[in-house]
Amino acid sequence: QAKEEGKNTYRIYDETLGSDMQQKMYIKNSLRRALDHQEFEIYYQPQIEIATGRIAGLEALLRWNHPKIGPISPAIFIPIAEESGLMVPIGEWVLRTACAQNKAWQDAGLPPVTIAVNLSARQFSPRYDLALQVKAILAETGLDPAYLELEITENMAMHDNNAAVLQELRGDNVRVSIDDFGTHYSSLSYLKRLPVDKIKIDRSFVNGIGNEPKDEAIILAMLLMAKHMELTIIAEGVETNEQFSFLQKNDCHEIQGYLYYPPRPAEVAKHILGSHHSAAQL
Ligand code: C2E
Ligand code: MG
Ligand code: MG
Ligand code: MG
Repeated sequence: QAKEEGKNTYRIYDETLGSDMQQKMYIKNSLRRALDHQEFEIYYQPQIEIATGRIAGLEALLRWNHPKIGPISPAIFIPIAEESGLMVPIGEWVLRTACAQNKAWQDAGLPPVTIAVNLSARQFSPRYDLALQVKAILAETGLDPAYLELEITENMAMHDNNAAVLQELRGDNVRVSIDDFGTHYSSLSYLKRLPVDKIKIDRSFVNGIGNEPKDEAIILAMLLMAKHMELTIIAEGVETNEQFSFLQKNDCHEIQGYLYYPPRPAEVAKHILGSHHSAAQL
């Protein structure tokens, strides 16, 4: 009986593992073709400056529409792309597409905004030379570097090599922000030496506003630190008026979240840029 059970358990475990791996292999293989087959799209999410109500920036968020499965979340496919070495070409496509899009909107006479692009740790590989690639993309698209912001996470910020790359780009006026601030294992000391312009309060903290005093305390500490370090600070994942009021009252500079706009395809983002009325929105 026990032997039988053990056998079954083993078999089920094995099958689960197998199908898991098959699924991953399938995604991995389709990812290889996704760029060539133009299955990727970028959605854009507005970042709103609280003091003026204007749209200060747009975050570029990658979307993958798989021909058979349909839309797959970046939370699922980005780790697989990173594992299989595909995040460098995909990340470069995102950078080029987002910069070209932002330049096109500026040329069309829309109010100029910063475009924020998420970076993967893989893009800092020394063999790739991120600084050179970013400069090439800016030259090729004609986007003013001051309208490009690179979003990195704390773990990427801690490596000296990466810091040097960012230092160089910042010398050209490219902005740098720390995404998901406070959620990674890291020391705050990197903030002293890294050329950082902005920190992004993670959604997990914003979520606790009004119901979790510890989250509120952490946010207040972040806001105070940003103020004294003269960094711009933005809250991510703002969904409720209560969250917005708390952030406004405590002098947070910008907000990003479903309360105002979710991420939208390029044509919709263009329309939002053209029709957003600062004062009326907040
Ligand atoms: P992130 O950079 O922290 O992006 C913010 C995420 O929060 C996005 O999820 C966005 O859709 C979501 N979000 C925005 N406002 C709200 C809100 O009010 N409520 C809730 N519940 N969620 C909100 P998304 O688009 O699924 O992206 C997930 C993550 O995937 C991103 O987190 C980023 O780390 C990564 N990612 C997305 N695009 C790229 C890319 O082009 N390159 C790299 N390396 N990573 C990317
Ligand atoms: Mg981000
Ligand atoms: Mg992130
Ligand atoms: Mg984030």
